[in-house]
Amino acid sequence: MNRTNLRVLQRVLAQEAGYADSIDGIHGPRTTAAVERMLAARAASLPDGADRWSARRRAVACLQLACHEHEIDAGAIDGLWGPQTDFAADALAERLRTGEAPVPWREETPADHNPNGWPAEEGVQAAFGAPCEVSRVTVPCPWRLQLAWDMRQSVSGISCHERVVESLARVLQRVHGLYGEARLRELGLHRYGGCYNCRRKRRGTTWSTHAWAVAIDWDPAHNRLAWGRDRARLARPEYEDWWRCWEAEGWVSLGRHRNFDWMHVQAVRI
Ligand SMILES: [Zn+2]
Repeated sequence: MNRTNLRVLQRVLAQEAGYADSIDGIHGPRTTAAVERMLAARAASLPDGADRWSARRRAVACLQLACHEHEIDAGAIDGLWGPQTDFAADALAERLRTGEAPVPWREETPADHNPNGWPAEEGVQAAFGAPCEVSRVTVPCPWRLQLAWDMRQSVSGISCHERVVESLARVLQRVHGLYGEARLRELGLHRYGGCYNCRRKRRGTTWSTHAWAVAIDWDPAHNRLAWGRDRARLARPEYEDWWRCWEAEGWVSLGRHRNFDWMHVQAVRI
């Protein structure tokens, strides 16, 4: 468990187990004592043998129990740190910070909402013209973007297909209004991964929707192509409103539809 997560645990211990020391993310004797008080009150929820676990493992188990008590699924109470616990700890931190339950991700396909009449994959050429020959316009972004692969470079706007300009501008305005500049940076949404790219799909020979400049990648380093919702940052609950802004305009997240390529959102229906 890293320091950030230990701080989350200490906040829980302050509420639940009389921990009155500083929230410093350091696993000292007072933290251990508070973990033991919290676990003693929940002995029935621990598996057999948990009394022989190390102090560190018992601390992780304690955080897992706290997640469950806040209705956040941390998986089995095993005291082991894995992706599910990591995700849950993050959700718990968000909950303690805002005092609200995070909005869960949606397992079902988002509603079939397509107000701009975006084409399906087979109709992309008819709707947007030949790949790599599209007329592009730069949409200014209301928050400061930086190139994900070279963060020293800032980007003033997104150069996209002229047909998606107005819709994209609405999405960016709404997102900015909802989160604000500081929160957008915290969420990594200033890490711009690109729009126009004259290339084929990474998996296959057909053209990527990037070849029409109707797809945008966000924070690729934390949302790698093959990652599912257990790892991709953009799958986390705090991005629910982000995705709603796109989906309100009919844009499609590959992550939310197919659980891969979470960085990618496109004005093409699937
Ligand atoms: Zn992409």
